[in-house]
Amino acid sequence: MFAHGVTLVLLGPDNRSCSGRESRTSWLKLSLTGAMRSIDIGDVLVLRTEEKSVLVDLPAWARLAGHELLTVADDGDGAGPWRLAILRGAPESGRNAEDTGGLHLRNRGAAREPVVALQQFHCNLACDYCCAQSSPKADARLLPLELARTVVDEFAAQGGSELLITGGEPFLHPDLGAIVGHAEQVPVVILTNAMVFEKGRRRQTLESLDRDRVTLQVSLDSAGPALHDRQRGAGSHARALAGIGLAKQLGFRVRVAATLGEDELGSVDLLHAALTNLGVVPEDRLI
Ligand code: SF4
Repeated sequence: MFAHGVTLVLLGPDNRSCSGRESRTSWLKLSLTGAMRSIDIGDVLVLRTEEKSVLVDLPAWARLAGHELLTVADDGDGAGPWRLAILRGAPESGRNAEDTGGLHLRNRGAAREPVVALQQFHCNLACDYCCAQSSPKADARLLPLELARTVVDEFAAQGGSELLITGGEPFLHPDLGAIVGHAEQVPVVILTNAMVFEKGRRRQTLESLDRDRVTLQVSLDSAGPALHDRQRGAGSHARALAGIGLAKQLGFRVRVAATLGEDELGSVDLLHAALTNLGVVPEDRLI
């Protein structure tokens, strides 16, 4: 079928264990980056997946990484699984946008929706489904401040509209405040588990951030503590709610993302009530 070498990657059902779109996207990118590096430039990687969101996420990733999406074939009757063939391209000269000194950069839909995500892997939690394989024991791979400044400058010069900072846990980065401060005019979304900024230096960092420009996004796995604590660690649900409450008290916009399984759907009203109590407005609830 192809004039090139072909490598097949199977995604799923493992990728379904990633909770939320951002997590699945991170997992997809990490997996594909490794797979593409294992084949030669000009060879083709065939990806087989049962996860429909890959059809949306993969073309943007391939564009950014300099690869070419050749075909998308549906092996089912419109419901997948799907096979996607990706031709490995040559890296651009200079810095590789995929991996810069252990830092992962992502620019989603560069032409229409300039967004860059700066990712590091140090985390206070070790969630059992973590797509970035972050944990207190993971190699921190902290984003160097100078590199972050360079990336942010390039991003702003291209008309960047929103900066996403993710992890790992961004508040573990000692230079988070400086990175956000350097972004100056660009709105910033920090994806945080909201558990580490109650006091000390991280509290100072939080309080130093610009409320008009910074949004905190926090994920919850369930309305009550049972599932969230099972997946993220004992007490993590209560601490996340406390962190959300603190951020709201300090005047931040807080967005809460919650992916509820079918057996959790009965608790949606409970979750909305809890978020109302914390001051999270309905438009900032991604449930
Ligand atoms: S909180 Fe940390 S360990 Fe859990 S999913 Fe997020 S980055 Fe991974």
